[in-house]
Parts: sequence; structure tokens; C-alpha cells
Amino acid sequence: NSLSTQSRIVNVSSRVRVAVRLRPRNAEEQAADADFADCVELQPELKRLKLRKNNWESDTFEFDEVLTEFSSQKRVYEVVAKPVVESVLEGYNGTVMAYGQTGTGKTFTLGRLGDEDTAARGIMVRAMEDILADITPETDTVSLSYLQLYMEMIQDLLDPVNDNIAIVEDPRTGDVSLPGATVVEVRDQKSFMDLLRIGEAHRVAANTKLNTESSRSHAILMVNVRRAVKGRSEMNVSMSAENGHSSSMMDSLRPPIVRKSKLVVVDLAGSERIDKSGSEGHTLEEAKSINLSLSSLGKCINALAESSAHVPVRDSKLTRLLKDSFGGTARTSLVVTIGPSPRHRGETTSTIMFGQRAMKVQNMVKLKEEFDYKSLCRRLDIELDKLIAENERQRKYFDDEIERITAEAQYRVAEAEKECKVSLENEKMKYHQEYLDSIKILEEKWKVHQQSPKKQIKEESTSNGDVQDLLQNEKMLRQSAEDESNDLKNQLSHWKKMEATATAEVVRLRRMLDTEASQKDKLEEEIAVLKSQLMQLSLDADETRMSLDTGDGPGKIFPGLDSLMSHSRNSQPREQSNGPKAPVAKLFEQVGLQKILSLLESEEPDVRVHAVKVVANLAAEEANQEKIVEAGGLTSLLMLLRSSEDETIRRVAAGAIANLAMNETNQDLIMAQGGVTLLSMTASDAEDPQTLRMVAGAIANLCGNDKLQTRLRGEGGIKALLGMVKCGHPDVLAQIARGIANFAKCESRAATQGNKVGRSLLVDDGALPWIVKNANNEAAPIRRHIELALCHLAQHEVNAKDIVSEGALWELVRISRDCSREDIRMLAYRTLTSSPTLQSEMRRLRIEC
Ligand code: ADP
Ligand code: MG
Repeated sequence: NSLSTQSRIVNVSSRVRVAVRLRPRNAEEQAADADFADCVELQPELKRLKLRKNNWESDTFEFDEVLTEFSSQKRVYEVVAKPVVESVLEGYNGTVMAYGQTGTGKTFTLGRLGDEDTAARGIMVRAMEDILADITPETDTVSLSYLQLYMEMIQDLLDPVNDNIAIVEDPRTGDVSLPGATVVEVRDQKSFMDLLRIGEAHRVAANTKLNTESSRSHAILMVNVRRAVKGRSEMNVSMSAENGHSSSMMDSLRPPIVRKSKLVVVDLAGSERIDKSGSEGHTLEEAKSINLSLSSLGKCINALAESSAHVPVRDSKLTRLLKDSFGGTARTSLVVTIGPSPRHRGETTSTIMFGQRAMKVQNMVKLKEEFDYKSLCRRLDIELDKLIAENERQRKYFDDEIERITAEAQYRVAEAEKECKVSLENEKMKYHQEYLDSIKILEEKWKVHQQSPKKQIKEESTSNGDVQDLLQNEKMLRQSAEDESNDLKNQLSHWKKMEATATAEVVRLRRMLDTEASQKDKLEEEIAVLKSQLMQLSLDADETRMSLDTGDGPGKIFPGLDSLMSHSRNSQPREQSNGPKAPVAKLFEQVGLQKILSLLESEEPDVRVHAVKVVANLAAEEANQEKIVEAGGLTSLLMLLRSSEDETIRRVAAGAIANLAMNETNQDLIMAQGGVTLLSMTASDAEDPQTLRMVAGAIANLCGNDKLQTRLRGEGGIKALLGMVKCGHPDVLAQIARGIANFAKCESRAATQGNKVGRSLLVDDGALPWIVKNANNEAAPIRRHIELALCHLAQHEVNAKDIVSEGALWELVRISRDCSREDIRMLAYRTLTSSPTLQSEMRRLRIEC
């Protein structure tokens, strides 16, 4: 994954360190060489070795370290390997190699386990002790592979069946690795010792089986160290507090940095020539292959020592494997082992010469740091999951709430209906009863009436009156029953209204739910922005890597805009925003330009700010500009100038437009879309000088287009430029001056070609007084532009009168005398001497030039 391997690489040059170690005489030598002097004499305090040629002559050689036959294993470790181990722990690759004739102590020096005597422990064991003591087990890991290289085949000593392991080289970083080899994580010294023992046993077994000698094979221990870098997270992260994120959010966007390094310990095959040992019974082809790696190492060292253009690393497995470890990008220590016996003078001499040549090899040491984007991604994923879960919880809560309120409303309506029904029924019954009662009374009265007709006649009139009263009464009762019924109807409608209110409440809650859903959408947008920021990080990381790789990249065409971005990354070193073209293709692919542009119209102000920054960042690269414009980015940016309330957005948008305005096609587009008016509006509303600088920069770019002169001026471009003068900030003034100089130059060109007649539009728009006032401005960029503008104006006789009346003549004279730039000085001089108006004025004032 390309994201996870953006590395920061620091190169430091260092030479291969070479020590020579002399083995004490062994029993056989003590007997056989008893009458002979040793063929070498050591002067450890001078770091010199004398090699006897014969009894009266010797050659002297200097080494980085001369280790006598009495040197302890501890001292050998400290001078040969410890510096390498330390630099591995700091994140550099490192190599320790032993070279020498069989039996001179290579394995003794590197591989002794020291089981029987701790003082005898060799370099491998001591190195691992130091590594394990230094790392932090919670965050760092140490793992190893143990291999043997024989007859150009790499065999896994931890899994000997695996005997043809391929070497893989990362084409980008040049890192060499053996993905096919067993890798074991080491947590403690004991398990390491066990691994070494297993490897050694396998080595012996394999060599017995193949009927080979282990002295003919190379043993290679590869220790990989992966460490988390603490307290470095402020590095290279292009975020700022200004963009609205809380600092915890920013922390979560910082990828942890890990340093990866490896220590390679190589116990080389015996350096003696193969024909000498003779008895191994190989064919000539086999013999060649046995020695190939070692002789190839010798050739590479020769080439490196002579700084030859071609180093034949591809010739053998060993040199390919050591490509990033020897004369390459690592710290390297070589110990050459020799024996004392004069019988082996030839081998000893060649061993010493090998060491001497190796001392001339320069290494480039590389520090490799990686951003751990994977864990950043994991963290963002967790964050995202949290947000999703929270959203789900809220949704569930609202659903429950709605259900509860709906149920309650229904219940209340049902209750009210029930109550109404009951009381209606009661009323009905009551009135019915009353009705029946009064009928009964009437009937009784009627009976009484019939039984006594006389009385009836007598009482007829009275009785008639009674009936009428009763009827009246009856009517009233009816009336009141109707009233009662109406009342109940009213109550019913009241309850209906209550029900409607409850329904409205339900609707309101649904709306809240909708709002919630749209907030969720916004969160998703936010996530998209986070992703694009992640891309941005990778972009920055790339830039960093590339600028560190190549030193300073080419400057931007309009470097004044750098600080636009530095608003959001002011803690960063300069070169990061200045690096060469970044792999934007990645950004387009993964986030999609359309998506980024669509975020410019997001309802969320924060999202808009991020989006416009990303777009501005992209627009700063020339290579992206066409794509941005094609995708409608320019129109969107201009829209932002028109519609955005937020000055940050307008400032960043203006910056992006300024960058796009460097290109002629875009200049036409900006003009066509009313860009000048929008920029002028932005200028008049702006409070931040940086906004003004961006606007002035954009207009200044437009001023340099020959074809747009009249239109630009017609739409108030010059007036807008001059209007920004009152801000007084030197950066803004420099852009204004640049614009005026651009404009004056184009005008002058047009006038010379006969395309323009009449006074300069700059003079028409009242630019001269400001020009005169600032022609000697103390800031060099402002002064230069204005001097140029003035010279351009003065070249045309139509402007001469104004130049005289505004007092610019004095400035021209000054320029022709004092300007430190010869071309401008000459231009002023020529202008003064060729203009009749200026000449006569000078004569009148008795000025000489
Ligand atoms: P190589 O690996 O170069 O073939 P070895 O490390 O196997 O050589 O050493 C050969 C013999 O010499 C071994 O018996 C070893 O113990 C002994 N030897 C080598 N160097 C020393 C030394 N500096 N002091 C004592 N004995 C040594
Ligand atoms: Mg050995």
C-alpha cells in the first residue's frame, strides 16, 4: 500500500568502518611455526598493522581499529558492532561483516553463543542484548530471519526445506527483503539464543547432507527493528487550529510515525582461493558458483572504492542482498580476521588488501520513517463507528418517543370519545325519562278531566291554560335538551381539536427525525472531508519525501501564495509547501475532484472551509489547474466570492483564483464570468490584509494579459487595485505594484505596436500620484515594480505631460542615476533622453542626466 510507505529519508554520508583482528596462534601453529616469526606485527595504539614481506621489509597499513590477539570479545563488540547497533536503534540500516580465511575467527567473532563463558559471547548475542534492552516492548518489535547462502541459493536456517528463497527489491526505495524467509519475533534473549542454536544445527545438518563445508557458505542473520517514534507527531501535519477542528480531532488525524531498520550480520565464507582447499570434489562450474558471491563482493568493493559509475551488485546473490547494506544506505562495519602464520602470508595479504579497499567505501546512511496511515485509518474508522452508533441511538430514541406520544394521543382521544358517549347517553336517557313523565302527567290529567265533565266545563278555561303552560314547559325542556346536546357537540369538536394538536406534535417529531437524518448526511460529508484531508496528508508526506530527496524543488510561479496555505500550516518547515509536483492523481482518484468541488456548496460552513482549502491547495499545482477548471472549479470559486459570508473562505478562494489566473485561458474565463467585479467586491469587504493580497495578486495576474487591458480597466480593475493601497500592508502593496507594472508593460507594448493611442489608462484612473509616492519605497519588490511601471509610462510621449505635472520626472531622474538594477537604470536613462517633453522640462529646470 503506497500510503503506508511514505517515508522520510535523511541521508548522512559515512565511510565503511574496518577493523582487523588477529587470532592467537593455535596449538598446531605453536608447534609448526615455532621457529618463525608471525607474518604480522600490530601497533594498536597507532591503529597500524605491519605486514612482513621478508626479513628486512614490511608494508604498513592503517585501519579504523586494530585488534590484537589479546582483545576481549567485549572490546571487539564495542569497537566493531556497537556503533552499528546504536544506529540501527536510531532507525538506520546497519551491517556487520566478517571477512577472512577459514579458521581465522570469523565465527568466533560473530557467532559464539558464550554458553560456557559469558565473556566469550560474540557480536550477534551482544547486539541482540543491546537491542532488547533499548526497545519498548509495548510499541516496538524485533524480528529476525537466519539464512545461509551457498552456491547462489539462499536457504532458510530456521526452516531448511525452504532452500531457494528469492530476493525482492522495492523499486521505489531500493529496500531489499526476503519475503520467503521465516521471520520470528524475538521477545527475550533466551528465545533468541534458541533460534541461533536451531539455525546452527540446521546449518551443520544441511552441510553434512550436501557434503559441503560450512566454510564455503555465508551465514546471514537479519534483525528487523520497528520502533514507534515518540513526540514527533507535530511533524509534517498540515492542519491548523484555524480550520475549526478541535485539537483532539487533530490529534486523531496525526499518523503515528514508525521507524524501520535492519541489522544484517554476515559471517562470510572463507576468503581463501578455492583451488587451494582442493579436496571438495566439485566440478569447475560448481566451484565458480561457490565463489561467485564472495568474488562479486570484492568487485563491488573495488568499484565503490574507486567511485566507479558502475557497481556490479546484480552479479551475485550476496551483493544483491547487501545492496542496501554495503556502500549503500547503511552504516557498515567490517572486521577482517587474520591468522599469524607466515605460511598463510598470501591469504593474509589479500585479506588485508580487501579491508584496505573497503575503507574507501562511502556509505549513504538513510533514516527511514513512515507515517503509520494504517493505524490512523483504524482510528478514524473507530471514530466513525462511534458516530454511527450514536446516530443510531438517537434515531431509536426518537422513534420510541414518537411511538409513545402517538399512543398517548390515541388513548386520550379514545377516552374523550368514550366520556362523550356516556354523557350523551345519560342526557338522552334523562330527557327521555322526563318526556315520558310529562306524558304520564298529561294522561292522568286528561283522565281526571273526562271523569268530571261538569267540572271540566267549569274548569275548561283553567284547564286549557294548564295545558298551555305544560306545553310551554315542554318546549323549554326541549330547548334545554338541545342546548345540552350542542354543548356536547362542542366538547366533541374540542376533543377532535386536541387530537389534531397531537397529530401536529407527531409531525413535528417526524421533522426532528428528518433533521437528524440530514445531520447524519452532514457527518458523512465530514467524513469525506476527513478522507480528503487524509489524502492531503499523504500529499504533504510525499512532498516532504520528495523535497528531502531532491533538496529544494523549483519555486512556484506565484510564490507569494505560499503563505495562503501557511495560514493552515504555519508550524511547518518551508520546503514542504514548496516541493515539486505531488501525486495528485491519487487524490483525484480516491476522493474525486467532483466530490471535493461539490463540498464547496455544502451547507456546513466547516466543510466549505475545508473543501476550499483542498481546492486551493490543488490549484497551487500547475498540473491540476486544467482539471479544476474543466470540472467547473473556477466557477464554483467565483461563486464563493459572490456568496460566501466567511472571509476565510473568500480569502482562500481568492488565492485559488489568483493561482488559476496565471494561465491565459483562465484569465479569459475569469473575465467572462465577471471575476473582476467579484474581486473588487471582495476587496472592498475585506478586513484581512491576506485577503487583499490574494485579490491584488489575482488582479495583478490579469493585468499581464494584453488582450484584456481595456475590459479589465472598464470593469474597475485598476480602481480596485488602487483602492487596496489604503491597507498599507507591504505584501499587498507589492502585488498592487506588480499589477501596475504588468499593466504598464502591456500598454507600452500595445502603444509601440500602434494598437493603442492616447493617454495611459493608468494615468486616467489616477495611478500616477501613488506611483510617484512609492517609486522610492524601501521595500525592494515594490520599488522595482513601480520603477518599471514608471519607465514604461514615460516611454510614450502622450503621458509625458502628466509625468511632469505629477512630479514623476524627479523620480525618473533618480532611477536613471541610482537604481541598482542596470537594465532599469538604462531604461530610465533612454526614456529621459528620448522624450522631447521631458528633455525640455529638464533643460528648464537645469537638470542633467
Ligand atoms: P572461521 O569462522 O573464520 O572459519 P572460527 O571462528 O571457526 O574461524 O575459528 C577457528 C578456530 O580458532 C576456532 O577453534 C576458534 O575457537 C579459534 N579462534 C578464533 N579466533 C580466536 C580468538 N580470537 N581467540 C581464541 N581462539 C580463537
Ligand atoms: Mg566460520
